[in-house]
Order: sequence, then structure tokens, then C-alpha cells
Amino acid sequence: MYRTHHCGALRLEDAGKEITLAGWVDISRNLGGMTFIDLRDRFGITQLAFNMEENADLCNQARKVGREWVLQATGVVRERSSKNANRPTGDVEISVTALEVLNSSKVPPFTIQDETDGGDDIRMKFRYLDLRRNPVQQNILFRHKLAMETRKYLSDAEFIEVETPVLIKSTPEGARDFVVPSRINAGQFYALPQSPQTFKQLLMVSGFDRYFQIVKCFRDEDLRADRQPEFTQIDCEMSFVHQEDILNTFEGLTRHLFQTLKGIELRDFPRMQYDDAVRLYGSDKPDLRFGMQFKELNHLAKGKDFAIFDHAELIVGVCADGIADQFSNKDLNEMTEWVKRPQIGAGGLVYVRFNTDGSIKSSIGKFFSDEDLQQWAAEFGAKAGDILFIMSGETDKVRKQLSELRLELGNRLGLRKSDEFKPLWVLDFPLLEWDETTERFYAMHHPFTSPKKADIPRMLNGDHETMKSLRADAYDLVINGVEIGGGSIRIHDRELQSKNFKLLGFTPEKAEDQFGFLVGAFEYGAPPHGGIAFGLDRLCAVLNGQNSIRDFIAFPKNNMGRDTMIDAPSAIDDVQLNELSIQLDIKK
Ligand code: ASP
Repeated sequence: MYRTHHCGALRLEDAGKEITLAGWVDISRNLGGMTFIDLRDRFGITQLAFNMEENADLCNQARKVGREWVLQATGVVRERSSKNANRPTGDVEISVTALEVLNSSKVPPFTIQDETDGGDDIRMKFRYLDLRRNPVQQNILFRHKLAMETRKYLSDAEFIEVETPVLIKSTPEGARDFVVPSRINAGQFYALPQSPQTFKQLLMVSGFDRYFQIVKCFRDEDLRADRQPEFTQIDCEMSFVHQEDILNTFEGLTRHLFQTLKGIELRDFPRMQYDDAVRLYGSDKPDLRFGMQFKELNHLAKGKDFAIFDHAELIVGVCADGIADQFSNKDLNEMTEWVKRPQIGAGGLVYVRFNTDGSIKSSIGKFFSDEDLQQWAAEFGAKAGDILFIMSGETDKVRKQLSELRLELGNRLGLRKSDEFKPLWVLDFPLLEWDETTERFYAMHHPFTSPKKADIPRMLNGDHETMKSLRADAYDLVINGVEIGGGSIRIHDRELQSKNFKLLGFTPEKAEDQFGFLVGAFEYGAPPHGGIAFGLDRLCAVLNGQNSIRDFIAFPKNNMGRDTMIDAPSAIDDVQLNELSIQLDIKK
């Protein structure tokens, strides 16, 4: 038997027991007469004690072991004279009577401690060592629990987990596919699923009624910070449901996860129309932990000879409450520089400071009288001590820029607290997005999303402009400004699906070629259905008040899409290429 207990198990009441532990050397301390080793495993750390006077051989043996060596130690549990209150096992230590080195270790390239000295790159290259660190292990354990609780909840709600294939057919919508060449079908390729979307809809046609799957999805997108080419979804589909049923079910799941994993009772799940989210927060995923709703000022700010405003499509701002005293002119200049950075790309920033002494100071005082600015204050409900931040420009752009500024102000003012959780359903997304460059419509969600029932006649008969205003039965769950997931009620009618494909630029032949299997299935009694998918990695991060999904993935890729530990992607040899009938002609 390698061990009688884990390294996190022993307590004062175990004093006197003879036990055996196995684990890794966390640190060792040589204090002359005594040597101490902290032995670590997944469950905790226990102190081993060696006494030179009692057993010099053993003590000398203990002094030779290095960091991360694997040891087996037998001894007697005893009360510690100097206790460590920060550790569950901190009241005891093991007076070791036998020590066996199960394996030695090279000196690790970084310290295996909660706070490590290793940078990102080295930790990714030696991810198996990084995963030994307690905070990283806790994240992975958390993920395991979240998956378990999800399975439990959905299974109790009559969902069944069904696996869908990983080698599927490439489709032109959405992101780019990762493709896999087929050896036995020369010149042909599978694609890895961006999501199991079509399969889960087919499972509804098959009558499974409620499906879920914790499933890997693959998207070959340009990597932005915190995107992974492969990620995990909690993917679901339900039959005979309206939007309301889906929102309720997944609100229930979200509450369950917060409650069981964090002991947090979420309060309300407000709902907001997509249009309102964009108008009031400049974003379809507003962070509701703080206010600062947008106010539009066109009616007050135009026609005062301030050319920038006069030429702008939209003048819009936010009010930061009570910061006039703490926000210096230097801070204001800093914010102006911040919005001018290429990442934000704004031309400038106008501020109006309503000082606590009643005076008003603004960067555009030349053009606007105090009376004008008082009108602005009334519009915002601003009072003495507040500062308005105003931006102007083309509507979509300026909304995005102000949204970034709002979030940054939220950060600087400490309004985005990591232990506060504000969920929000964003509803009624546009069905289609018009792209000026390619002059075509794209599905805002995906091509199987249903328009709102009331919009169906307009979709079937309306003109081009009408199509831009169609609303979809599509919804996103947002928590603290992070999109946790989204879904939609699907089209289950062949005629409507064909119309949608046509709007998306598919010829009937191409639609048949790409999605004939699905549309064909709809002719055999497809039930009304809808679904949703949550990003599991992201949900883990948000529940822990963290930003990076990478920290919750055991073996993530870096921001170049590389796994530096196994060195992938990598070239394959000519034999393999020949078998796949592939000739490379790589242009650099
Ligand atoms: N398949 C969708 C997605 O990955 C989710 C859904 O509509 O259920 O975003």
C-alpha cells in the first residue's frame, strides 16, 4: 500500500496513529537539529519532521531530497509545537520513522507555489508542472464540479446526454472550420464542428425531446485575447418549447450552479431588448454591476457652432456620480488619451465637471454656456460632484467607444466588483446583419434561427429594407458583461428555412448541398424546438470572478493557437501527406 491517508487528511484527533503518506516535496527546511519537509498531493500538505538526535541516518536522507521529489513516508502523527493556522493539517506533523524515495525530480523551471516565479510561456511549456500548483488545480477541480452539477441538473430535468460526431461536414456560415483530410476519400475533407447545431436539431426530429451535451467545439478564428480554438459548450436543445421555457430552464441551471458551487443565491434575471442594450450601454452584453446608462444629447448639443458635434450622427455620454473631487484634470486628460488609443479609436473626449462648489468646468466651455450645460445635467440627472463624459461620431462606432469608456470608468472607480454577480437576458436580436463590404446578409446568430412569429409575414413578403428590421427569437445570457451563452427558437418549417437560406445568399442548389439533410428532415414531422449553448470555460471563469478562460482549461493553446508543450500544430511527413493525397505548396 503506497499510503494510508492523503496529505490533506490528518488532524489533531489522529495524534498517535501510525500512518503512511505519499506525495511531492513542496519545500524542505533544514534547521540543524530538525529537518522539515512539506509533503504535497492534490488534497493538501502535511509536514514531515525528522530529528537528527533521534535518527541521524533518516535525517540525513531527508536532507538530500530536492523540490518535487516523490516520497513515501511512514511515521506517527503528533501535535505540532508551532501550529500553522492557515493549513487544515497545520496542527499536526509526522514524526517520520521510514522514508522511501519513489522518484527524484529535476529542479523545476519555476516554483510550484501559489505565487510562482514562472512567466506565462514557461508555465505553458511545462503545463503539467503548472497544473501541480494549487490555484490551478483548484480551477480544474472547480470545472469538474461544474460539469457534474450541470449533468445532474439537466438529467433531473429529463435531458439526456447524446454524443454527436466530431468529424462532420464543412459549412460556410459562422467562423472558419478546422478541416481534416480523409485518407480513404482522396481530396475530401471532414470539418470539426463549430457546434453540434444541426445534429441537436435532428435529435429533436428524432423525438429525443430534451438533449444536452458537454461538448468540444472548434472555431478557426483569428485569436483574440482569451479565445481558444477549441472550447467547451454546455449544449442543449428542447422540443415543444417557446423562448420562455428555455429562459426559465437555463435560469434554473445558472441558479443551481451558483448555489451549489459558490453558495450564492442570484437575485433577479432581468431581461432587456437587444435594441435597448445597444442604446443604453452601447453593447449587447452590458455589465449591470453599475449604472452609467447612456444619454443621447443630439437635441441639446447640436447647433451651437461646435463643428464636431454638428457633424456627428450621435452625441452621447455617461454620467459618473460623485467623482468630481477625486477625478483630477490629470485623470481627465488620461481618460482622453485612453479613448484615443488605436484600440478604442475615438477622436476625443468631452467632459463637463459639475464641481461641488456649484461651478461648472468643461472642455467645450467656449461653445456652451453654463445654462446649456445645466440642461445637459438635467438630461442626465447629474448633480454637483458629478462628471459627464461625452463622445460623438457615427452611431455604431461611438456607442462602442463609449461602451469601452464606461467599462474602463467602472474599473477605475472600483464598480466592477469580482464578488458581485448581475445576470441579464438580452432578447430579440436582429435576425440578419447587412454587411456593406460583401453586400450581403449574414445570420446574426445562425441560419436556423427563427424570426419572431410576428415578423414571419414581413420576412416572407417584405422588401430588402424590411429584412434589416426583422427580429429573431434569439437570446443571450450575460453575466457581469460577459456573454455566457446564447440560443434561439429554430425554424422548423421548410418554406421559412428556404427563404432564410435565400436571404443569406444560398442558391437552392447550394442550400440543398450544404443543409439538404436538415431541411429534408424537417419534412418528416419536425417539432417546434429551440435551444441554447453556454460556454463552459467562460462560465467557470465568471463564477470565480476571473477573466481568463485559459486558467480553467487543463491544456490550453496560447494566443497563436499553439500548444507549446506538445508543439502543435506541426508539420507532418511526406508519407502521411501522400496517403492523404495532399501536395503542399506553401507560400510564405
Ligand atoms: N449552436 C449555437 C452556438 O454555438 C447555440 C444554439 O443556438 O443553441 O452559439
